[in-house]
Formats: sequence, C-alpha cells, structure tokens
Amino acid sequence: MKKYLIHKTLLTSILLLVSVTLTYNIAKAHAKEPIRVLMVGGGESHDFDTWYRGADVITLEKNGFAQVIYTDDVTQIMDHLPNIDVLFLSNNQPIKDQATRQAIFEFTKAGKGLVLAHAALWYNWSDWPEYNKELVSGGSRGHDPYGAFTVNIVKKHPVVKGVDKSFELKDELYYQEVDQAGPGLDVLATANNKETGKSFPSVFVVKNPDTRIVGIALGHDGEAHNIENYKKLVRNAVKWAASK
Ligand SMILES: [Zn+2]
Repeated sequence: MKKYLIHKTLLTSILLLVSVTLTYNIAKAHAKEPIRVLMVGGGESHDFDTWYRGADVITLEKNGFAQVIYTDDVTQIMDHLPNIDVLFLSNNQPIKDQATRQAIFEFTKAGKGLVLAHAALWYNWSDWPEYNKELVSGGSRGHDPYGAFTVNIVKKHPVVKGVDKSFELKDELYYQEVDQAGPGLDVLATANNKETGKSFPSVFVVKNPDTRIVGIALGHDGEAHNIENYKKLVRNAVKWAASK
C-alpha cells in the first residue's frame, strides 16, 4: 500500500512537471520576441541624437515591439548584421568600406529587411551607384525649403495601416526620383510641390526581388518624428520589413 502511494505521488509530480513545462513552452512560443533593429545615423544637417537615437528608438521600443541598437559609427554595421532582423539606415554620411557595402547587399539577398529613412534616400554616394539603383531604386537630389506640406496616402499597404489618409507636417519635401533601371517602387504616400504641383513619393516600398525595403522620405526634425502618423509609419515599416 505504501509502495502504491509513493508511486502515485511520483506520478502526480511527473504529470505536474510535464504540464508546467508544456504551459511554459506554449506561452513562450506565443510571446512575441522584439524585432531586432540596427539603426544607423550620423552626418550633417540633422540632429540624429535627438530624433533617431532619441525619439525613434523610443517609438520602436515601446511595449517591447523592437529592440534597437543605434550607432553613428558606420564601421560597426558589419558586426551587428548577423544578429538583427532589420537594418534601419538614416545616415547622412557615406559608408566607404567595401566589405560593409557587400555585407549590406548580402543581408538583403538573404531576405532581411531594410528601412531607409530621409537622408539615407539621398543620392549621397557617387562611388556606390548600386546602393541607389538596387536598394532605393532612385533617390533625391533636392528638396523644397523646410516648411508645411500635406502627405496623402495613395495605396493600401501594411506600412500605411492606421495612418491618416491625409496629414500635414513641417518637413523637407524630397524630390524623390525613380530610377527605371532599378527594381521600381510601389508608392504608398505622396506629397505635391506647391508651385509646380508635381507629386513625389513620401513613403514607398522598393520592389527589390530579394527582400522587403521601405523608404520614408519624411523625418527632418521633431515636426515629423513627434507626430503620431510618423510614429505609426516607422513602426509599421519595421514590422513589415521584418516579416518574411
Ligand atoms: Zn533633412
């Protein structure tokens, strides 16, 4: 009888342990891991520390949505690439190292996502035309003087989900050109030059055959980074870029 009791207690303990382990594993599987982001900034004409290292990192890390490493040292990019889901480039400084350039292309060829923000959409690097052609499918060479303009959502897409159909902000209206020799763009939001009426892409995805790339031309300063529509765009962009 005693032996039977010991067996029964042992069996109950084992069942309890199995049940606790199963519950833990199921909960673990359902808990969303934060998206691992490397954000690269630095360079002239912008307060990267306040608006990218500061505001955008807070926007992305809210509620455990993402885990962001920020750097303005482009020589650090390569070391981080193996451990991140999304590369977020906002830098207004060149990436000169050939190995780093190649590693960024290998990252995208492996299907890892890219978010290219504001200054990173510029035609900045005359000796790296592949960057603009393949990853941006174009670029900007000029912009309206800083001021108020309206952004209009022109297409349904996860990147613009929950964003107001039309919103105003103060920013630089980039003259984003599309390079027809590149993979092309799916334009999601546009803004019109007030004088000429010409429409330019403000938010787009690049039809890169290997991976998901989002371009956000907005973001010169706090008049963009602090508004809800911009915050939604940044979070949506990272989420979509991280999706497989
Ligand atoms: Zn700017």
